[in-house]
Amino acid sequence: MTLNLLTERRLVCSNRQGSRVAVRTSVRMIEQARRFGKELKPLTRVKCMRAVDLIARKRDKGKLSTAEIEWLISAFTHGEIPDYQMAAWAMAVVLQGMDADETADLTLAMARSGEMLDLHDLVPLTGDKHSTGGVGDKTTLVLAPLVAAAGLPIAKMSGRGLGFSGGTIDKLESIPGFQVELTVDTFRRAVCDVGLVIAAQTATLAPADKRLYALRNLTATVESIPLIAASVMSKKLAAGADCIVLDVKYGSGAFMRQPEHARQLAHTMVAIGQQAGRNVAALLSSMEQPLGNAIGNALEVREAIATLQGHGSPDLVELCLQLGTRLLLLADRAVDESAARAVLQQTLNSGAAWQKFRQMVANQGGDLAVLDDLHRLPQAPIVLPLRAPRTGYITTIDTQALGMAVNELGGGRMRKTDTINPAMGLVLAARIGDQVEAGAPLLHIHAASYTAAARIAPLLLAAYTIGDTPPPLPPLVLEVIP
Ligand code: URA
Repeated sequence: MTLNLLTERRLVCSNRQGSRVAVRTSVRMIEQARRFGKELKPLTRVKCMRAVDLIARKRDKGKLSTAEIEWLISAFTHGEIPDYQMAAWAMAVVLQGMDADETADLTLAMARSGEMLDLHDLVPLTGDKHSTGGVGDKTTLVLAPLVAAAGLPIAKMSGRGLGFSGGTIDKLESIPGFQVELTVDTFRRAVCDVGLVIAAQTATLAPADKRLYALRNLTATVESIPLIAASVMSKKLAAGADCIVLDVKYGSGAFMRQPEHARQLAHTMVAIGQQAGRNVAALLSSMEQPLGNAIGNALEVREAIATLQGHGSPDLVELCLQLGTRLLLLADRAVDESAARAVLQQTLNSGAAWQKFRQMVANQGGDLAVLDDLHRLPQAPIVLPLRAPRTGYITTIDTQALGMAVNELGGGRMRKTDTINPAMGLVLAARIGDQVEAGAPLLHIHAASYTAAARIAPLLLAAYTIGDTPPPLPPLVLEVIP
């Protein structure tokens, strides 16, 4: 039997007054059909549509229908709409925005432009996490084994670092042998065998987003909340998890500097996920200073391992416990917050989370001997302190500048094709609010040479302000949504 679910969905969506439940039901039908292995009809090609009309409508603040958005994304994915028209449409969206229905339609159309993973034949429920990106953000390396050890399988596809922000895949690749490019079969087997897998996004996942995001990067059209939300959530929906926690960062080391923008993005993404029948929550967390102390791939793996062994920096541990608590609650694995937190704390204290991490590393080909002797991780030949120019309290840190400094050292990439040196980075010796003596180290630079370290030192010094009085401390988590 072939269900014409898309037609059904269009009919439902055409009557949008109070039709949220109907839309949700219809999306669930699509999901259910997928679960039961029924073939979904490909997006109907409606010949009379023209990209130029849809661009003009958006330019003039008009609204696009579900069918129009599906056509646009399908035609673009199949190379039938040239990049210049799609870029013009994206710019119209940046300037005029999209409403909640259009954003949800765009997300689903991009999610369905490629393979939609379904893991329900393996495990009843899976969890996933997404961070909007930050500096020193090694949360996934700790959170994923923590939650998996507490009994919720984690099936996660992650990205690489770009610009000032690092990426989980680069971090994991600093463990010799660790495989991130997995086939869908291997990914699925890992969910079954270990209950924890972190892999690079497959090429077949949300290909429309891949093309559109590359275009947006080149045409100054990244900065749009509906486009960012649809881009992130299309990949999350296609990756198949039922429970998704979003770590939406704000502050000097985040893409969204202002909490209000981060809040708006978080609400938009949570609404999309819920409309698609997934359990989603978001935390607004501070990036006013790096998370934990290490910035740089191998250095962050080392810090994540120390955290899993019970020696974590308090901010990193706290964020992981809060994100993990949300995931367990979304999955109905705990009766309330304190019960969820207690379970997670227990998996950390007992070493179960650390053992889960080791299982994942072994399963994905990583060298366990390196985990037992961290000196075998890539190491910088030169480690130099950056000294405080005066006595006082650290008042602010330009966190993005620290991320860019790691790039300068060779630890990150500005273009997708750049290669990285996993040993390069920074390790903070003091944080916002700490009192430092003149000449005491603010941080240590892990560099390939003295020259490289000396070149970035002025940039790093300029990133710090040191005052005479202790500053108010930024809250780590500002808000939980919903
Ligand atoms: N990350 C994404 O995946 N998409 C965006 O649009 C922005 C950041």
